[in-house]
Order: sequence, then C-alpha cells, then structure tokens
Amino acid sequence: MKLRYSLCLLTLFASPLVAQTPKSLPTTEADVRFKADVLLVVAHPDDETGVSAYLAQLLDQHKRVAAVYLTHGEAGHNNMGPERAASLGAVREMELRHAMTKLGIDNVWFLDGRDTPTQNVLESLANWHHGAALEEVVRMVRFTRPEVIVTWLPGFFVGENHGDHQASGVLATEAFDMAGDPSIFPAQLAAPVHVNETLFDGLRPWQPKKIYYFSDAQEQEQFKKTGPEYVVTGISSARKLPYWRIAMEEFEFHLSQYRNYIEGLAKKDDQELVKDGWSDPVQLTFGKSNVGGSVTGDVFEGVISEPIAFIRPAEEVEKPRAGLSVELAGPWGFYQTFRREHALQQLPQAASPEIAIAGGAALQIPLLVRNGTATSKEITLSVTSPEGWATKDGVGSYTVRAGDELPVVVTLDSPKKAESKMAEIVCHAQADGQAVATIKLQVHLRAGGLPQD
Ligand SMILES: [Zn+2]
Repeated sequence: MKLRYSLCLLTLFASPLVAQTPKSLPTTEADVRFKADVLLVVAHPDDETGVSAYLAQLLDQHKRVAAVYLTHGEAGHNNMGPERAASLGAVREMELRHAMTKLGIDNVWFLDGRDTPTQNVLESLANWHHGAALEEVVRMVRFTRPEVIVTWLPGFFVGENHGDHQASGVLATEAFDMAGDPSIFPAQLAAPVHVNETLFDGLRPWQPKKIYYFSDAQEQEQFKKTGPEYVVTGISSARKLPYWRIAMEEFEFHLSQYRNYIEGLAKKDDQELVKDGWSDPVQLTFGKSNVGGSVTGDVFEGVISEPIAFIRPAEEVEKPRAGLSVELAGPWGFYQTFRREHALQQLPQAASPEIAIAGGAALQIPLLVRNGTATSKEITLSVTSPEGWATKDGVGSYTVRAGDELPVVVTLDSPKKAESKMAEIVCHAQADGQAVATIKLQVHLRAGGLPQD
C-alpha cells in the first residue's frame, strides 16, 4: 500500500516534467514479443479445438501464433461448480489460458463481447456493440501484426452454427480489410502526446496478407478443396506425439464444458478416439490473399516477411434491382451483402438456405419485400409446409408504396416431435396475379441445439 501510494505521488510530480522531455518517450519500434505470424480470431474458449492440431504444427515450424477471443464463453453450463455468468467466464478464461500454454501459445487476449447463445449473427454483432468490437479487433490486428488471420467461417450452415462464431469471422474479415487503412480508427494510429497517455495507441496501420476460415458446419465434405487440408497424424518433432494427441491434451483443460467426456477419454483406445474424430484432418477454407498463392496451397505459400501496403478490397458492384422482389433477409440477406462488399463471393455457402431448430420451436423467416416500380403494389405472401407445421404469422397481403421496401417476418410452429428430420418450407410471393418470388428454406428438426433467436 505504501509503495503504491508513493508511486502515485511520483507519477503526479513526474508528469509535467517528463511531458516536456520527449526523449524519455518509449521507442517507436513495435514490441517484438507480440508480433504474430498467425492470429486466431474466435468467439469462445474451446473454439481453437477445430484447428489446434494445425496450430501445433505451426509452432513446430517456429511460427508465432497468437489468439483473440471475443467473449469469455460465459453463457453455457458449468460441469465443475456452481459458478455461472461472469464468474463462469472467469473459469473459462483460465481453462483456456492453461490449455493454450500447454499447446505452446502464450499470447492470448480476451475482448469485451458477451456470449450470445443464438444462431443469429446479427444478434451477436449487436450484443457485442459491433462498432466497438470491430475497433478492438482492428486494434489487435495492428498490435499483433499477423501475416495470416485464421477465423470462423462467416456463413449460415446447419451445425453448431453459433452466431458468435459467425460474428468473430465477420469481425476478423472486416479487420483484415480495415486495419491497413489509416482513415479507420485513427486514434489508434495517433502518436501519444501525454506521458500518461490513455487515448492514442501509437500503433501503425497493418495489412495482413491472407485470411483463412474453418467451420462448425455438420457437413464438412462441402469444404474439401476450398483450402488447404492438414493431416494431423504426423509426429511433432518438439513434443514427440501425434499432432491430434497434442490437440486432445489441449482440449482436456475445458472441464467446465466437457467434464464427463474428458474424464472418459483416458478409458478410450486409439480406435475409439479416431471414431470421435480426433485424427480427422484440419480443413481450412481459403478466404483471400494479398500475396498470391493457390487456394489449396500451404497457408504460408507466397507470404513474404516484409510488410505490404494497404490493399482496398475489390468492390463488386451491386446489381440494380428493378420491379418487385422478395428475398430472404436477416442473417441470410446480410451474408449476401457481406460477401459482395468483402470480395468473398467464392466462399462456400449452403446449396439452399438451411437452418436447424428444436422440434416444437417457432421458425422465423425474415423476408424483405422491395417495390422498385413506379406504382404502389399489393403483395400476397403464403407458405407451403409439410404436415405438422402451422403458419402462425406474417402471411397475407401487404401494400408497398412505389420505391419502398417492407420487412416481414413469417413465423411457423414446427411439429412437437423432436425426431431428426428435414422439412422444406416454401414462401410464395404474388402480385398482380403473378408469382414474384419463391423462397425455399431447408429446416432440420433436432433435439437441443441453439435457438434461432
Ligand atoms: Zn464456441
């Protein structure tokens, strides 16, 4: 206490003096301890599991790996004690830090996002205060100066399909395209002017060279050949263990989430562990590169050690909409815009829009009706659904003024039985006695899982 008091006094007295002596300001050379070759940007403690066997390979190649977690993953259950909410976040943070230390990664940062247990990426972005979270991710990119960013695939797929996973991929992509732009978050780039500076970071713009994605989609086959695939059965030169075993050892720290499974691991033989998927290769999806290289080539193919200048993402012109249109909106509509704005049209997407919900849960289908004609129009929405489904809300006739657009949410009750099966829900839009649009959504009914909203 005494020491702290005297340090405070020292700061108070020292400030005006030191402020007049710029020579005492720290060096402008970035702190090499935090330079990353690969920056992992994910949402929750344990999200690294899908790529940790690959990260272990990078460490063997003496690559510097760092990680940013958007949340503490505080929304789930706790298998270790009564702690929940923010206290569970504290538990998860420490489990992750121990796990990453075991893997060999020390530079791990947690941002201020809250766990959002839904499938809707827009809810996650709102819950994280999108702009504020983006500012934090851009800061971490400028601070860690990664050559390559690895993150969750921004897209809507049946699987865990966590909105937070998608949102971390959205933010990482936005940061990839913005961190090198000096007009973005300029206070991060301003030179410190006070000794006790709290506003200006003194960072430099940084343009990462490549971005890769991985996905929690149930159907992993669709990502084959969309990027490099890393076999994980090789033996680590440093650890003398197969890479998949290193990944499993890392995972064993996540006890508050998987206690029973982890405690059972010791009794499983290799065959059972292989069946659990531990030795499956790590499949990445190529996002984009500013230094060339092929889609399925190594992540570091084409990566040079020198920094590169800011590259503005290639704009793709939006096709002008004429006449009447009805489109899937919400997260599905957002991804259409996102892919176009970030020049990511080649990213895999579900063949037909899809979602998984629990049997008995309500299904919400967000639609956007646009009237690009010169006259007011009446549009009628109707739904075709399999037996057992009931349309609850949103169908009927709507008048949309000339040049206007109208968001509509069609809501259906799904059958109570939670047995795993697929349903095709079709929304029809009609105007002037003619079909305007037919929108199909594939719905997987299953027990458990995340709610839609
Ligand atoms: Zn997660």
